[in-house]
Order: sequence, then C-alpha cells, then structure tokens
Amino acid sequence: MTENNETIPLPPAVEKLILKFLEVAKNLPLSDRGKDLAEKSVDAEASVRCPQCDEEYSATEIEILQDQIGPVKNLLHPKLRKTVKGMCPIVCIQCREVVSWLAPGKDDDGFVREKGKLYHIKFCPQCEPEQFDGKEVVTELVEKQLWRQYK
Ligand SMILES: [Zn+2]
Repeated sequence: MTENNETIPLPPAVEKLILKFLEVAKNLPLSDRGKDLAEKSVDAEASVRCPQCDEEYSATEIEILQDQIGPVKNLLHPKLRKTVKGMCPIVCIQCREVVSWLAPGKDDDGFVREKGKLYHIKFCPQCEPEQFDGKEVVTELVEKQLWRQYK
C-alpha cells in the first residue's frame, strides 16, 4: 500500500454493486423537485436560482451532467462552475440534482473519491426535509455504503 493512492478506483465488485443499485434507482419515482426541474429544463422562458449565490439565470444554461441513471442537473450559476472543477458532484437520487460537492481524496476508513466522479445520496434536505428537521443527518454516499458492505 502506498500513501498516494488517491486515483485507485473502487474494486470491480463494488463498481458492479453500484451499477446494480443505480439500475434499480432508475425506476424510483422522482421527488416533486426532481419532476419540476425536469420540466423547467425544456422551458426556455424559465429561470432558475443558483443555490450558492442566489442569483437567477436562464434555465437553458443549467448544466446537465450524466450518471448511470441519466441526466443530472447542476444548478450552480455558470460563473461559479469553475470553482468546483475537479471536485466530486454529489447527486440526490430523488431530485436528480447536484446538491453539493466534495473534494476528491481518501477518507480515514480508506474510501476513495475519484476526481470529478459523481457520487450519490438517497435523499436531501429538499426532497425529505423532515429527515433533517433540527437533526444532524449524515447522508452517507451510496457508493460508500456499498463499498463498506464489501469491505
Ligand atoms: Zn433530494
């Protein structure tokens, strides 16, 4: 084991588990927010608000990323996108939206986040606010949960 193994991918068995999970997640219903965003993306008249700077911009400028399920929206204002370059977008499965970014790297337990790779959480404060109501909720990455099972 070397210290500098930040680019080592997950074991193939874990990658397979993740693909399987996302295949199932494909058929899960979207949150209201997820549906709403899906409609807005085709409406050139609509505007969206950047969750970071709160500035409005045209929905046509929403960045569309891709994961194994399909399109994912990044609502970050176009002018802010370079600030998250190389970071890992964290996607809410129900909202189909990037809800935060994590730096690539290795956790204390050995889980490695690869540069620029998308990771997933099952819910976020926007689609399941009751889960976050006054509590400190740790929404662990799906990928990490599956990795731990395998470990
Ligand atoms: Zn959500």
